[in-house]
Amino acid sequence: MNREHLRSLFTTKSARVETNRGEAYYARLYEQCKARLEELKKIEPLRKISIKEILEDEGVSRRDFLKWASATTAMLMLPSSFTPLVAEAAELMTRVPVIWIELQDCAGNSEAFIRSDGPKVDDIILEIISLEFQETLMAAAGHQAEAQLEDAMEHFKGKYLLFVEGAIPVGPGREWCTIGASGETFEEHLKRVANDAAAIVAVGTCATFGGVPAAAPNPTGAVGVMDVVNNKPIINIPACPANPANMVGVILHYVLTGQIPELDSLLRPKFAFGYRIHDNCERRAHFDAGEFVEEWGDEGAKNNFCLYKMGCKGPMTFNNCSIVRYNESVNWPIGSGHGCIGCSEPGFWDKYAYERPMADANIKMAPGGGVEKSVDEFGLGLLTAAGVGIAIHAAASAIAGKKSEGEE
Ligand code: SF4
Ligand code: SF4
Repeated sequence: MNREHLRSLFTTKSARVETNRGEAYYARLYEQCKARLEELKKIEPLRKISIKEILEDEGVSRRDFLKWASATTAMLMLPSSFTPLVAEAAELMTRVPVIWIELQDCAGNSEAFIRSDGPKVDDIILEIISLEFQETLMAAAGHQAEAQLEDAMEHFKGKYLLFVEGAIPVGPGREWCTIGASGETFEEHLKRVANDAAAIVAVGTCATFGGVPAAAPNPTGAVGVMDVVNNKPIINIPACPANPANMVGVILHYVLTGQIPELDSLLRPKFAFGYRIHDNCERRAHFDAGEFVEEWGDEGAKNNFCLYKMGCKGPMTFNNCSIVRYNESVNWPIGSGHGCIGCSEPGFWDKYAYERPMADANIKMAPGGGVEKSVDEFGLGLLTAAGVGIAIHAAASAIAGKKSEGEE
């Protein structure tokens, strides 16, 4: 299935986010998760560490941990009754081996993965997973590192989660990117390591959709993992960088259920990418009221008005950063005054990362007009139409605002 086909599925029922599947479904899932965790408990942990002790050492109380488990349960769109199971799954994460490879990238996702000022539970959990290979973090280099990768692949054949960071050059420039003494191209390397993985998690927009390396004129012919690997389940966690909370969410879901989470047509987990930035943005009330920042540093900017007219692409972008935020959940781009540049969407650098609203007058407005439509009804194609709808809505709101000022 190629990417165009995937996109064409976006408007189907399968794109819907089911937040309530009924009691019988959750009762069955609960039993399934319990059985899965019991099975995992029988497996020898790959790392002999006590999560309880690590959390205590880092100053995280049991209460804080349970609060995190409860928030993570909600993020995974599970009922609160699953909280104890999520907490238990976090403690069993050392049973699932992870191999992490980097291809055409800036290591920004590895950075996000290890970043912690005063470590929060997400960071600690990521630090304790059984990371069997990660070239940026491990001490080994050269032949030693290659041997470590071979060992891990052999030892955990068919069981490891393969995290891939970075795009894959498949164009005439592919020979610029090789790995190891044998000169294996990134494409060959990825295919070989992917072959024995249980599932692949593509992290960051480069690994998912080609990202910045794929921006025009794309000299290396960069593409994402799903354009190269077709014999394994793939979970895409785009964004630049991917949010560590979503990485933890995907691993936890796998540990808890033994399955990959429900995905949208671009293979993104629905729990994280089921809604647009705009749906949960803290500036949304200003959008609806027609209150916009018109120039950087103006009164609107000082009052945290909506950034749509400054180029915010939140209405076209599916991601949960408006909820989970970045850097220990302290803030996120829109919170700190810059519009969303759509970093979790395919082709974002060419399509969205500029400083003005989209204005494609050739596209008809979405049926019904405006933007107050649910994800179910807006496909990727219609999102551009939604952009036009938004522009009209925004202009109308602004005019309405000016009128009432004039009338006063
Ligand atoms: S346009 Fe951007 S800043 Fe404005 S409400 Fe939507 S997401 Fe938030
Ligand atoms: S706000 Fe938009 S550009 Fe910023 S991290 Fe989230 S999806 Fe990416």
